[in-house]
Amino acid sequence: MSRHIAASAIRGSHQIFAEASEALEKAVALKGEDYKFEFPDTAFYLPHIYGMTGIKIETLGQMRGGLDYAKGLLSPVPAEHEYLPYLGETLDAGQATLFAEEILLASRYVLGLEPMSDAETGIQYNGFITDTVLRDLGVQLVDGTLPGFAVIIGKAPDEETAVKIARDLQQRNILTFLCGNVGGDNMAKQLSRKGVELGWDARLVPLGPEAYHALYAADWACRGALMFGAKKGGDALEVLKYNKDRVFAFALVMGPMTDLIWATGAGAITYGFPAICDTEVPEIRPTGVCTYEHVVSQTDHEKIIDTCVETRGLKIVITKVPIPVAYGPAFEGERIRKEDTVFEFGGPKGAAFEWLTTKEMEEVEDGKVNIHADDATAKLIESPDTSKTTQLPLGIKVTVAGRKMSPDFEPVIERKLHDYINCAQGIFHMGQRDANWMRISRQAASEGFKISHFGDIIYAMVKSKFPAIVDKVQVDLYLNEPEVLEMREVARAVYEERNQRVKDMTDESVETFYSCLLCQSFAPNHVCVISPQRLGLCGAYNWLDARAAFEIDPVGPNQPVTKGETTDPDKGRWKGVDEYVWSASHQTMEGFSAYSLLDSPMTSCGCFECIVALVPEANGYMVVNRGYTGMTPVGMKFSTLAGTVGGGAQTPGFGGIGKYFITSKKFIKADGGLLRLVWMPKSLKESLREDLIRRGEEEGVPGFYDMICDETIAEESEKMMEFLMEKGHPALTMESIL
Ligand code: SF4
Ligand code: ZN
Repeated sequence: MSRHIAASAIRGSHQIFAEASEALEKAVALKGEDYKFEFPDTAFYLPHIYGMTGIKIETLGQMRGGLDYAKGLLSPVPAEHEYLPYLGETLDAGQATLFAEEILLASRYVLGLEPMSDAETGIQYNGFITDTVLRDLGVQLVDGTLPGFAVIIGKAPDEETAVKIARDLQQRNILTFLCGNVGGDNMAKQLSRKGVELGWDARLVPLGPEAYHALYAADWACRGALMFGAKKGGDALEVLKYNKDRVFAFALVMGPMTDLIWATGAGAITYGFPAICDTEVPEIRPTGVCTYEHVVSQTDHEKIIDTCVETRGLKIVITKVPIPVAYGPAFEGERIRKEDTVFEFGGPKGAAFEWLTTKEMEEVEDGKVNIHADDATAKLIESPDTSKTTQLPLGIKVTVAGRKMSPDFEPVIERKLHDYINCAQGIFHMGQRDANWMRISRQAASEGFKISHFGDIIYAMVKSKFPAIVDKVQVDLYLNEPEVLEMREVARAVYEERNQRVKDMTDESVETFYSCLLCQSFAPNHVCVISPQRLGLCGAYNWLDARAAFEIDPVGPNQPVTKGETTDPDKGRWKGVDEYVWSASHQTMEGFSAYSLLDSPMTSCGCFECIVALVPEANGYMVVNRGYTGMTPVGMKFSTLAGTVGGGAQTPGFGGIGKYFITSKKFIKADGGLLRLVWMPKSLKESLREDLIRRGEEEGVPGFYDMICDETIAEESEKMMEFLMEKGHPALTMESIL
């Protein structure tokens, strides 16, 4: 441990402590001690302080107590040549810094100074990261789509290097937070000036222009442990260890190091996150005291991301896709404006479809991409007129063959085409089946992207993602209108047949369910058991998906679970499932009821799409979806409710579910089923409209849809009850739920 670093970190902690004290006193002077504060959309108070101490800071007055705590961690600033501080003091300085930064930022929120924006570039900094965003990313965290996080502090030596580093990170799917500055400039501004898109979709998220804005990233990491890892606020070592072992984050410090950066870096080190610097700094490599890398220097910008990845040990799997534009999930959410479009397919104005079908081995020519177009169209797509937008019909037919391929897997793979195509930079894709819509941007076309590249993308991705079931892939692209219309009818018949097949599937009609243990990397005892009528609570896996995943990777996180003897058909209990749950939950759960929320419900990890909660006064349940940030009739927002159900625990009366479970015939069947549903957010209700209407009719209450209350009618219990009574909601007269 270099004495220089320690002294610098300690000086930095004093500096930020002073800044925090000043900001807090200003906030108190403005609003008073009793002023209540919470960061936007979180159930975790000041998350870092809560995670470390268990203290729930809710008012400005209580923040003073938080600062006192930080003060206790401050060491005296060492004078030159007289004092040799070591790891302990440095780490304390790091923690003191994070405490102080959190209070500084909270005070700045109160003072109306956060989140910031930049007038010159128009950047709107993100500020505090909400619980909703963290949960939205849940499945991507656990399935490896997001292999890690970078926090960049500072700026690159020049704009070209900034772009290169950002692209390097994007291509590896690393989620990157940007903060800090060097002489008033920072990496976010550098990227913005070069026209690089910033934001969550691009996976480049500017947090704020100061080094202390890195705290927002620490806040997010800390909540990961609380939300997904079921760690308790106050179990500091547990929270920190969880992050070291499971959250693959690192800091990339660009440009000169300051006292504040060293101090913040020391805080990151307590979380087990190393700092990689692009300057000559004293390195802290494993020695007797530390067992892993803390500070690493890499001055070569060509190699710096490799160094980061190696240092933190990120596992990155990238498929090489042979196309002339960049490729990766960071380009998935790109919007392409009409004015920037060269070719448009489908959408509101054109005929298009995408359809994946199975053939015998000898009928498929592996790797072949056929274009079916008349001469004029063929010429046009070879050398497009980039000054205007051309609308073309497009049928994408993907034919696959494989010894283990089954028609049941067709929709599973077909649904992926959307992700695969969207990952190309400058390409837009929306919808599926015969409701798809695509655009090729002028930029992509000028870089050489051709329509045939759709085929190349599909070929490369399907082959690499489904090697166990697909041996051959052929892609046919139809561009002649009559042919597209004709083929679309064939495809439509198949879509219809598939709909029927899934609809007819019941839990009784199969002998095997599938487990999903993906979330165990975050919630170690959590088990999802996925049946035809109950999908995984994240909404990302249904029974067919899980079965396909098992075929693809027989030793992976999705395993067959033999139902065995049915012990309770109403509650949804099976002997085989209970045995499986007991062993897969490491003997923490004796089993669960798939169709009840009151009697041993399934556990919830952290990434549920919706939460179902008991509303005793209405003798029913309400459902609230992630993304709805308003109040609910049980007096809790989604974020607060999520805090009570997550972490792999069983919480009777509450549970996380996938959205489509609501309209399943098995939805809380043992507790009275769909007719118990009394409240849900309007947007959720509307997105399920047709199915809810049909299910209401099936349950014998034709007007049921209009009896479900939503926030536009009532956000609180009393008003909701009035509405339910006025409508004669069936839950009110059902058998008492408790
Ligand atoms: Fe996690 Fe369950 Fe979704 Fe699997 S199905 S990713 S375990 S929530
Ligand atoms: Zn999960």
